[in-house]
Amino acid sequence: MSKKEKTAKPREAPKSGKSEKPLEVVIVSSEAGPWVKTGGLADVAGALSRAMAQAGSKVRLFIPLYKSIDRKKFKIPARGVKFSVPVSARIMEGSARVIRPSGGLEVWFIEQEQYFGREGVYLDPAGHDYPDNLERFAFFSRAVLEILMTSGRPPEIIHCNDWQTGLIPAYLKTIYAGVPFFAKTGSLITIHNMGYQGRFHPSQWHLLGISWDHFNPGGLESYGQINLLKAGLVYADIITTVSPTYAKEILEPDGGFGLDGLLRYREDRVHGVLNGIDTAEWNPATDKLIPSRFNYKDMRGKAECKAALCQELKLAPGEGPLLAVVSRLADGKGMELLAGCLESILAKGGRFVMLGSGEKELERRFLKIASSSGGRASVTIGYDERFSHRIQAGADIFLVPSRYEPCGLTQMYALAYGTAPLVRATGGLNDTVRQYDQATGEGNGFKFEKYSESALLSKAMEAMEFYLTNREKWNRMAGLGMQEDNSWIHSAKMYHKLYRLAAALSGK
Ligand code: ADP
Repeated sequence: MSKKEKTAKPREAPKSGKSEKPLEVVIVSSEAGPWVKTGGLADVAGALSRAMAQAGSKVRLFIPLYKSIDRKKFKIPARGVKFSVPVSARIMEGSARVIRPSGGLEVWFIEQEQYFGREGVYLDPAGHDYPDNLERFAFFSRAVLEILMTSGRPPEIIHCNDWQTGLIPAYLKTIYAGVPFFAKTGSLITIHNMGYQGRFHPSQWHLLGISWDHFNPGGLESYGQINLLKAGLVYADIITTVSPTYAKEILEPDGGFGLDGLLRYREDRVHGVLNGIDTAEWNPATDKLIPSRFNYKDMRGKAECKAALCQELKLAPGEGPLLAVVSRLADGKGMELLAGCLESILAKGGRFVMLGSGEKELERRFLKIASSSGGRASVTIGYDERFSHRIQAGADIFLVPSRYEPCGLTQMYALAYGTAPLVRATGGLNDTVRQYDQATGEGNGFKFEKYSESALLSKAMEAMEFYLTNREKWNRMAGLGMQEDNSWIHSAKMYHKLYRLAAALSGK
């Protein structure tokens, strides 16, 4: 793949939905929608699996069978294929339960009560990482390889995602290196966020089953710790990340979180492929989770969605735009900038709705601003998929002021729902949002460069002013944004090419 292909925009219409050559694809993820979701990784793993299967490949998606996954709703069988995995000196048993939700797609749920039969996915109820996360995901990673060897044909590619599955490329190049079954299997790892690397104390090394020889800076060691994302980055045949801009940012010290040197060393294997959105789920013309449906030709439904949302939240009446946030309240999301200037935005006539949860201090700050806003701001702490759809449909401006953002999905959902994104120019936000130019009518939203409160505030002022003074142009901009194609079809084609490349590189 040439460097040129890293520029994902503007995109050309694909000639057909079918790939040239169907592949045997395995996608492994610690979460995937609609079965289990804590963040964007789930949207991506679920939607990419469906898109690859739709394009003709045979896809097996592997995820852990967490306690929270609704067995009944998703028709997950009570029994499955039994397997066992060595974990240190023990043999741990589990079963793999399979469903076939659509043509060409199988979902394999890895059941293991001791590891996955608990409330949280990664965190305990107090919000702390489970202390045995290395053991849980080492088991999961190895289980995938053990199950593959006893069921069906060898895959051409195993597509891993983030640190939880970073051991798979390492296993393929170490303890499974001589296994004929995997002789032609390539591995690809996608980095969804460099900020989460899965770092563990070396005393847990014995749980991996890999020789100590690999605990060094050329292997799985990083700054004295075991680093599972690094395992993937060292051993995978191809490395991808979720936008072209982020693919450049992670090569620099600021974006590399300590692994930029390794990534520069492997730069010829690093590719940026923009995430898509699941257009079956995020489409205002068919969305059953919003009060009125609409499309770019007839926007009356959007006005109804806004009125319904304002009424539901008991917002004070006003002419100004409704600004919105749906986000984890976590480091990197830029929420401290917003908390610092939100009152000024409200004072200028904006109204505000937020749905989010995370850092307690931020939650408290936003709740306090809402309670003293005289009904101009509504803040809901929690996680609510259905509510997030009503917000996307009812808002005018969607704020994503991230310090860094590998891809970001919510700005693309906003575009699809005729809600202008206002973002900082970083990562995938930079690749998907183009600053609107009133003179030429070009652009789909608002973008600021500097990570500062004043830059965010002045961009919000510009957007509000435009909304209030030139509604005709505003509506045209929103309508054009709705017509942009951010579906998975293009990115699935790029992954298909990279899968073939990884398979060709395996063993080299
Ligand atoms: P990240 O993966 O860093 O959280 P993304 O923008 O890639 O960021 O994906 C976030 C996903 O999680 C989106 O689908 C967004 O709608 C959803 N989301 C985030 N917070 C909430 C929330 N509080 N309630 C419902 N959905 C949320």
